[in-house]
Amino acid sequence: MQNFEGRVAVITGAASGIGKALAERAAKLGMKLALADFDSDGLTNTGHQLAETGSEVFTATLDVTDSQAMEQFAADTLARFGAAHLLFNNAGVGGGGKLWEVTQREWQWVIGINLNGVFNGIRAFTPALLAAGEGHIVNTASVAGLMSAPGTSSYTVSKHAVVAMSEVLAGDLRGEDADIGVSVLCPSFVNTSIFRSSRYADQLEHSKEQRAEEAAIEEMVGEFFKTAMGPERVAELVFEAIRDGQFYILPHPEGTREQVSKRLQDILDNRSPSVSGPEEFPQA
Ligand code: NAD
Repeated sequence: MQNFEGRVAVITGAASGIGKALAERAAKLGMKLALADFDSDGLTNTGHQLAETGSEVFTATLDVTDSQAMEQFAADTLARFGAAHLLFNNAGVGGGGKLWEVTQREWQWVIGINLNGVFNGIRAFTPALLAAGEGHIVNTASVAGLMSAPGTSSYTVSKHAVVAMSEVLAGDLRGEDADIGVSVLCPSFVNTSIFRSSRYADQLEHSKEQRAEEAAIEEMVGEFFKTAMGPERVAELVFEAIRDGQFYILPHPEGTREQVSKRLQDILDNRSPSVSGPEEFPQA
């Protein structure tokens, strides 16, 4: 897709981080915005900020795991703007730990948002993109979807599935009589609030002790995230990729290629996975 002006961008997880930066970039390009997030205060802020700069914005507070809410969001977007062209299935949460130690609740929560949320977005909005005859779908995975680091459990599993879902979707759309591109975004560390898992302590029913532990980890990790790539740069790369019809978006190309070739070489040489942990996530 080459022309963005006057077209409609749909973005989940738009209250914060990469989703918010995508919304800002789409607004700068003259797009109309349909924004969704679970965090209603953050979403209202994003919506107000963009409306003040003259953009047409529609916001919906919803949980991407709720398929009916996503279908309602699609219906409301069409009622408001008459079409949808760009779809960013971006909402996501972190997760980690050893697989056998992850609670059922945390597993379902991460897979529900990071994987089922993307599926719900595809199901709800692809018919509108097909009807428009042009468009592009960007699913936010992660470099974690291209390598399998120990200790990253549900997060890595969900992101591998998002990469696979995007690859399948690109093939499914190839046979359709419409110009709909697909990309999968696979960044390494980006300076957002992703590490602030304490936001979700109520949803996960964490104990007082778990909350204290989370706060201590966040304090430490927060300093590191400040040094990571800015979400605005990621948004810039995403729109360049949409323009160029590029499928894999790798904001940290050097280290990502290194990890992908290592994984493929392990497979081809019939070796056990050689990645040692999240410390191998690319820095560049
Ligand atoms: P973020 O926490 O700043 O933003 C995520 C947004 O998703 C938040 O506004 C949050 O409220 C929303 N969200 C969470 N659960 C939701 C739900 N159930 N329904 C609707 N909205 C929900 O983090 P971010 O880094 O901007 O994350 C965006 C995407 O980027 C995620 O899919 C994440 O996995 C991916 N990603 C992030 C990084 C990184 O280092 N920041 C790296 C690779 C991939």
